[in-house]
Amino acid sequence: MRESAILAAENSGAPRWTETNARRFGRKSLAASRTANNAFDECDDESLELRRARWNNLSAESTGERCSECGARVEGGNAGCEVLFNELGARDFSDPRYGATHELLVDAYCLQHPERYCRSAKSYAAHLTRMCCGIERGGKRETYAAIPRWLSGPAKIERPETRAQRGSLTIADLRSAQTPEEHAKLVREWAANVWQAYAPQHEIARRWLDAALRADDQQAKKRSRG
Ligand SMILES: [Zn+2]
Repeated sequence: MRESAILAAENSGAPRWTETNARRFGRKSLAASRTANNAFDECDDESLELRRARWNNLSAESTGERCSECGARVEGGNAGCEVLFNELGARDFSDPRYGATHELLVDAYCLQHPERYCRSAKSYAAHLTRMCCGIERGGKRETYAAIPRWLSGPAKIERPETRAQRGSLTIADLRSAQTPEEHAKLVREWAANVWQAYAPQHEIARRWLDAALRADDQQAKKRSRG
């Protein structure tokens, strides 16, 4: 899963999982996550925000490691961050209660890791435009579907500059969720936070999304005529 998570997801139906990473970080990080979750068993009435803050402090104390791309405090640094993405992405497919926010999760993660997932102009445009669809246009299935069709056409895309500011929340913040509802709330907060960090590129994202919908419209008209 190097160039674009979208393309990878389309090819395989699920984020790719590497057994090597699983061996190195996955089980360990899963065990750490269980320990941390147990720490919250006694405080069910705590707010989600408070739990999240406690989680991050706990993680920082236990590992001191960060992902250099998104800043997440996560055991294993960059590789551990990717393991977390693969774990949560895979759970979206295996447990439908978590799947509703899958698109936002993938695009928020990829926009916070553009060196890996938005290297080409088209993969950059795919994630930025999808995020615009998810945040500003209600995340309609048919709108998402127009984006890869537009990108596989003759559209000329110039890659915007990689942003240094990518948001203050990260995928690590999702670990404090104890229910699918809390998870969905945190994914939406995280995605909105990342989208805000991309404010200087909102206009281009809106323009691209409109172009994708226009191209789709023209194709539909052509089909109905032909
Ligand atoms: Zn990261």
